[in-house]
Amino acid sequence: MVFGALRGIELKTPDQLRQMRRAGLVVAAAIAATVAQVRPGVSTRELDAVAAETIRAAGAAPSFLGYGSVNGVGGFDGVACLSVNEEVVHGVPGARVLAEGDLLSIDCGAVVEGWHGDSAVTVAVGRPTEDLLALSDATRAAMWRGIGAARLGGHVADISTAVERSVREHPGGYGIVEEYVGHGIGSAMHQPPDVPNLVSRGFLRTPLRGAAIVEGLALAVEPMLTLGSPDNHVLDDDWTVVTDDGRPAAHWEHTITVTARGLWVLTAEDGGEAALAELGVPFGPLAD
Ligand code: MG
Ligand code: MG
Repeated sequence: MVFGALRGIELKTPDQLRQMRRAGLVVAAAIAATVAQVRPGVSTRELDAVAAETIRAAGAAPSFLGYGSVNGVGGFDGVACLSVNEEVVHGVPGARVLAEGDLLSIDCGAVVEGWHGDSAVTVAVGRPTEDLLALSDATRAAMWRGIGAARLGGHVADISTAVERSVREHPGGYGIVEEYVGHGIGSAMHQPPDVPNLVSRGFLRTPLRGAAIVEGLALAVEPMLTLGSPDNHVLDDDWTVVTDDGRPAAHWEHTITVTARGLWVLTAEDGGEAALAELGVPFGPLAD
């Protein structure tokens, strides 16, 4: 069924992928600049301004600002999703002030000449507890295991399987959020195919192995893990996703593509070279 699996999926030309790399580097810079300002006492609104300034200074546009608006009304009111502790994703920047020991996820997107990058990191505020650090590390590791499983001739479910296996290896166990998933990305931030973070239930509506991984496909791989139950709901602001049990969550994300030579992590400053080497996966950027 590979025949039908590519329907509706945008395949990028090499030049379009190079444009996405430019967007990815802007996102990497925006996240790095924001991370550098994370400290107790800073508000999420102040952090959002740092991301906004970095994106604008690079001559790019933020992907998230106004996302979901209808005829220019409403939409996401921020440049980054800043999600603290029990907030899983889509936290709206605002008056919330970070405190020592908080866990913050910074999710940011930028667009350069019509091509998008999307990435997220989780960082601790001040000195985190061991369990929060372990949660973030497990989420980051699951993301890289998922990325490392992507190869030409494979399928999206290979990524989902690798993410889930990576998480299930932890003896304490973490929750895997199912309702929010990775995605195709390119001329829009969110495109088909979905990239679920587990296969045991996540592929119920997508039998077989999901979309084929071919040259020109770009995906955002983004596991969201919880310290307690992964059950969650959306707050009255219609954006912020929080865990039902109020326990913390972590979120990591990169935008990737697979070339004939290997993987290229478009939103990593080094293109993913270091992390891929650790995984024993070929690093395969396109030549300039
Ligand atoms: Mg994102
Ligand atoms: Mg995303």
